[in-house]
Order: sequence, then C-alpha cells, then structure tokens
Amino acid sequence: MKVSKQQKNVTLDPGFAGEIQRRSGENVFMCYQCRKCASGCPSRMFMDSTPTELMRYAQLGMADEAMKKNTIWYCLSCQTCSARCPADIDIAHVVDTMRIIVQERKIKAQSNKLPLFNRLWMTMIKFMGRAYEPGIVVSLNLLSGKPAKDIGLGMKMIRKGKLKLWPSFKKPFAMIKMFAGARRLKK
Ligand code: SF4
Ligand code: SF4
Repeated sequence: MKVSKQQKNVTLDPGFAGEIQRRSGENVFMCYQCRKCASGCPSRMFMDSTPTELMRYAQLGMADEAMKKNTIWYCLSCQTCSARCPADIDIAHVVDTMRIIVQERKIKAQSNKLPLFNRLWMTMIKFMGRAYEPGIVVSLNLLSGKPAKDIGLGMKMIRKGKLKLWPSFKKPFAMIKMFAGARRLKK
C-alpha cells in the first residue's frame, strides 16, 4: 500500500485518549462510529472534520490531527451530540477538553482567528456576564488587521433589531468570581 506524504508526517500520541479521560471523565473508546453526533451537529457544515472523526482521531492518538482542525473552534457547545450519543459520551465536554489541551500545548490552529474569537468570547462573558456580539466583531476585526470587515452587514443587523448596539450586563461580579474559582481549581 502506498503511503501518502501527509500520512508519513502524522505523529501519534498514545496517551491522548487517556489524557482526555483523566481530564473530562469521558472514555472515547466507547465510541463505535455510529455518526449520530455528526448528523445532528448544527455547525457541521463549517467544520473540517465531523465530531465522529474527532472521536476517531482521539482513539487513534492522532492528537495534532484532531486539534489543528477548525472543528473544536466551530463547536457551539450546544450539547446536541452529547444528548444523541448512544454510547453516552459527553462529546461537547471532550471538545472543551481538547480546546484546553490545545492552548496548553500551544498548538497552532489552521486559522489563528478561531482561538482568538474564543478568547474574546470568554473574556466578554467573564466581565459582562453575557455575550456582546458587536464588541466581539469589532475587537476581532481590529486584532486581525481588518477593521472594516462586515461593518455594512453589522449596521444592517442593528437597523433591523437583530443586534443590540449597546451592551447589557448580567451579574458580572458573580461571573468574575466564578472564573477565579475555576482558575483556583485548575491549580
Ligand atoms: S454518537 Fe457517540 S458513538 Fe456515535 S459516533 Fe458520535 S461519539 Fe461515537
Ligand atoms: S456540541 Fe459542538 S460538536 Fe456537538 S452538536 Fe453542538 S456544535 Fe456540534
């Protein structure tokens, strides 16, 4: 069998599935590739690999392959996959765990914008208690060097009432406390 250049370059991490289980409590070896997770995923059309493929990569120890894809960043944490999985795997939790490992190992995603978006999103939730979409878009545009991107679309959505111009806050102090508690637990 001829081995492609891409296959030759795959580095295996035999401890990857074990690390996921240790940190999330989820056993990826329970997955038998039925594809129910992928078929119900609302973000599937934007992903490089399906959630099913992500589970397969984890089983095979293909850590880089799993974590360099945009899949983990396009996941909305909607839990649809977790609710549908016949093997009772909390796939959304596995994805969250991979996001943490990616940042710890400083693995570069194929698009730098996705981790940046995630960081901005979490910062906004931490300090405001809820998402403020115009703020995220403007910050993302400025930090990625395209300040005018989607401005027209954004204005149109604000005019139609689909986006709020001004931010609102929900228990920001409680959120800051919760984030600090999570950081302490991690240590
Ligand atoms: S639904 Fe569960 S068992 Fe089926 S492919 Fe997805 S993770 Fe695997
Ligand atoms: S939690 Fe993520 S992977 Fe699962 S269905 Fe929702 S968007 Fe897809």
